[in-house]
Amino acid sequence: MNTAYEELKKQFRDRIKEHELLAPYTTYKVGGPADLFFTTATADEFVEIVVAVRKLDIPFFILGGGSNILIGDGGFRGLVIKNNSSGITIRGMKGKVKGDNKESLVFVEADSGVPMNKLVRFTIEEGLSGLEMHLGLPGSVGGAVYMNSKWTKPTGSVGDRLYQATIMTPAGKLKNVNQDYFNFSYGKSSLQRSDDMLVSVVFALKQENKDMLWQRANDSITYRRETQPQGVRTAGCVFKNISSAEALTCGTPDHATSAGFLLDKSGCKGMKAGGAEVSTAHANFIITHQGAKASDVIKLIGIMKKNVKQKFGVTLKEEIQMIGEFT
Ligand SMILES: Cc1cc2nc3c(=O)[nH]c(=O)nc-3n(C[C@H](O)[C@H](O)[C@H](O)COP(=O)(O)OP(=O)(O)OC[C@H]3O[C@@H](n4cnc5c(N)ncnc54)[C@H](O)[C@@H]3O)c2cc1C
Repeated sequence: MNTAYEELKKQFRDRIKEHELLAPYTTYKVGGPADLFFTTATADEFVEIVVAVRKLDIPFFILGGGSNILIGDGGFRGLVIKNNSSGITIRGMKGKVKGDNKESLVFVEADSGVPMNKLVRFTIEEGLSGLEMHLGLPGSVGGAVYMNSKWTKPTGSVGDRLYQATIMTPAGKLKNVNQDYFNFSYGKSSLQRSDDMLVSVVFALKQENKDMLWQRANDSITYRRETQPQGVRTAGCVFKNISSAEALTCGTPDHATSAGFLLDKSGCKGMKAGGAEVSTAHANFIITHQGAKASDVIKLIGIMKKNVKQKFGVTLKEEIQMIGEFT
C-alpha cells in the first residue's frame, strides 16, 4: 500500500475500508473494488475527508446514489467517498401570505447526500411546491444537481428551483454560490467542468396545497411505471437526447430528438451482450442481469451507437458516466 494511503488510514482509522466492492453501491450492480472507501454521515465529515484526500493528493470520486454511473470491472484506484450526509432544514421564508393567496417563497436546505426521494417527500408534506415532479428520481441531491436531472411531464429540472448552494473549492474553501454559478442546461451543470464539490443546496419553493402536490407527484410515478422498466438493474437513460438542430441536420423522422425513439427505430430493443440487455420497455435503458460485467455494458453501448449512426447518421452521446478502470 502506498504511503499516502497509509497516511489517510492513520487519520481516519477503521472508518477507511480497503478493497470495497463498488457494484452494490450502484444501480447497475456491476464494477470492481475501490482501493479505499469512506462513508460520510454528515456534511462536516464530507468536507473533512475531501480536504484530507486532496492534501494527500489521492485520486477520489464522490459517490451519491450510484444511479448514473458505470464502474469499470477493474474498480477505482484511489478513494471513493460515499456521501450519506442527511440534513434537511427549513431555512426561512420571504414574501407575504395574503389570505389564500400565498406568494411567499420558502427556503429548504438539504445536504448533498440526501436522497432526492426523501427531500421530495419532505417538501410535499410541508406543502411546498417545486420538486414534486421529481418523485421517483433515484440518487442523491448532489448527483441530481451535478446532472441537472430532469423530468418530462411537466418539463422541469432540479436546478430550476436551486436558490443557493455551498460548494467546496479545490483549495478547501467553503463558498456560497447562487443559481448562476451552475450554468444549468439540459443534463448539464458547471460542476461537471470544475473540481468544486457540492456540500449543500438551498431550494426556493412555493406554498401549495399538499393534496395537489401528492397528486402531481403520483402522476410522475404512474408515468415512470408506464414508460420505464421496473424492478431491474439499470442506470436509466444511457444516452442524451439530441438537439433540435442535430435532428434537423440529420433529418430524423418528424425531427425527433429522443434518443430512446432513435434507438427503438434502429432495432435496439432486446439486444444483448453477455449479461447486459437493452430493455424491451425503453430502448434507452440498459439492464444488467446476474453475472453481468461492465465490459458487457460497454460492448452493448458500442453496438447501440453504431446502429443509430448507420440508420440516422446521428452520433449519440452518453449520459451515464464511466468511472474507474475498464479492462
Ligand atoms: C430507474 C432510473 C430512473 C432514472 N430517471 C431519471 C430521470 O427521470 N431524470 C434524470 O435526469 N435522470 C434519471 N436517472 C439517472 C440518475 O438517477 C440521475 O442522474 C441522478 O440524479 C444521479 O444521482 P446520483 O446521486 O445517483 O449520482 P451518482 O450516479 O452517484 O453520481 C453522478 C455524478 O455526480 C457526481 N456527484 C454526486 N454528488 C456530488 C457532490 N456532492 N459534489 C460533486 N459531485 C457529485 C458524482 O461524482 C458523479 O460524477 C434515472 C436512473 C435510474 C436508475
